[in-house]
Amino acid sequence: MEYLDRIAETGHGMIFASSSIYEIIKDLCLLGSRFSGTESEKEAQEYLKNYIKELGIEPMEFEFEYTGWYRGTCSFFLQTEETKFFPSFSLVYSPSTEDEGLEGKLIDGGGGSETELKRIQNELKGNIVMIHSGQTEEGWLHRRIKYANAVEFGAKAFLFANHNPGQLFPTGSIRSNRFGEIPAIGISKETYEYIKEQLHRKENVGGKISVLNHSAQTKSKHIIWEIEGEKRDEIIVIGGHYDGHDLAQGATDNAGSIAALLELTKIMKEIKFIPKRTIRFIAFGVEEFGVVGSTIYVNNVNVDNVKVMINVDGLIGHIQKVVACGGNIEMLQLINDMKDQFLYEPIVMKTIITASDNYPFLLKGIPNICIYSQNPDPESGRGYGHTSADTFDKITKLDAKLSLGFIFSFLLEFSSLEEIPNRMKEKEVITLLREANLEENLKILEKWPFN
Ligand SMILES: [Zn+2]
Repeated sequence: MEYLDRIAETGHGMIFASSSIYEIIKDLCLLGSRFSGTESEKEAQEYLKNYIKELGIEPMEFEFEYTGWYRGTCSFFLQTEETKFFPSFSLVYSPSTEDEGLEGKLIDGGGGSETELKRIQNELKGNIVMIHSGQTEEGWLHRRIKYANAVEFGAKAFLFANHNPGQLFPTGSIRSNRFGEIPAIGISKETYEYIKEQLHRKENVGGKISVLNHSAQTKSKHIIWEIEGEKRDEIIVIGGHYDGHDLAQGATDNAGSIAALLELTKIMKEIKFIPKRTIRFIAFGVEEFGVVGSTIYVNNVNVDNVKVMINVDGLIGHIQKVVACGGNIEMLQLINDMKDQFLYEPIVMKTIITASDNYPFLLKGIPNICIYSQNPDPESGRGYGHTSADTFDKITKLDAKLSLGFIFSFLLEFSSLEEIPNRMKEKEVITLLREANLEENLKILEKWPFN
C-alpha cells in the first residue's frame, strides 16, 4: 500500500473511532466566548498550548497589540406616544453615546446597500437607521459595508437587526482595529418587525439609545506550532481564529475549526506522518474585531516561505463543505482535480473570502483557500453565527467527525502535491481583486493597502 493510503486509512480509523474532537469543542465553548480582551481568551491560549505540549510539540507565540474594545452598558427605547424598552447589544467597536443618550427618528434602511440608502438619503441625516443582516438589493453585503454606508449617508446611529428569527441580537465589528464613528447596536428580528409596523401606523417613531463602551490598547497572541515536512523551508499554513463573540460560545464560529486543528495535529503526530512540506498551524487571535490579528501577523513576520494559506472558519456546523479558492483559477482547477480523493466531495468555488484570516495572506500574494460548512438554507446567512445561539449543542458528533475526516483528507492530499500554484505579484493581486469587483468595497472597509 502506498504511504499516503496507509496514513489515510489509519487516520480515518482514529477519527471515527473517537469522539475527542467533540470533547474539545465543548471544552473550548465552556471556557467562554474567548472574546478578545477577556479572561476566557487567555484561558483558550493556555488550553491550546497545553494540548500541543502534551503531544510533544513546543508551541510558539506571536504577541501583538491592537485597539481593545470593552463592553459597557447598552439600552434602547422606542418612543411613540409611550416609551417602550427593547433588549439590545452594542456591536464591537461601537463608540459610546453622550451621557444623556442619543435620540432621533427611526428610519428603515432595509438591507443597507448604497442603492437602498440613496433612496432615503434625505431622511437619514441626523437620524437613526435600522439595517437588517439579510440580503440587500445589491446582494450579500458584509455588516461593515452596511455600517460604512450608514455613516456615509449621515445617520446618527446604526441599529443592526437580525434577519433570522428567535429574539437573537446579531453582533460583529463595525470597523477594523478602530472605533466606529456612530453608535451601533444589535436588535432582534422581532424588535425590528415591531418597529416597522409602528412606522406604518404612526407619524413619529423615535428611538433613544444609550451606550457606554471603553477603549484600551490591548495585547493578544496567536498560538503557532508545526509538523516538520521533508521540505523544511516550504510551508503550508493552516489556520483559524480561536476568538469568539462575547454574547456566545462561538461553537461553529470558530471553536469547531480550532478543535479540528488540534485533532489533526494529534493524529498526524500519532501516525508519525511526514508531510512533503512543513505544516504550520496557527490559531489566530482577534479575528472578530475585523481580521486584526492575522493582518498584523503577515505584516510583521517573514512569510516568504509560505506557499499556501488554508483558512478554516466555520468548518464544523453543517456537513456540506465549501472550498473557496481565493479567486485563483489554477487553485480552482487543482482542487477540482483532487476532490475525488477527499473523504467526500465539497463544493469548490473560485470565490475570494475577504472577511477572514486568509485575506491578509492574499494581500501578500500567497495562494489561499478558505474552507467552511454550508448552511442548507442560503438565505439564513450566518444563521446562529454571531448570536448567543452559536453553542456546542448545534454541533453533532457525526458532523464533527465528518468535518475532521474531510479536513484530514484535504490536508493529506494538499500537503503532498508536487506543485502548488505560484505566489502572485502585487500587480496580479490587484488585478484579481479588481476583476472580482471588490475594489470599491475593500476601500470602504479600509482593506485596500494599494495605491
Ligand atoms: Zn469566524
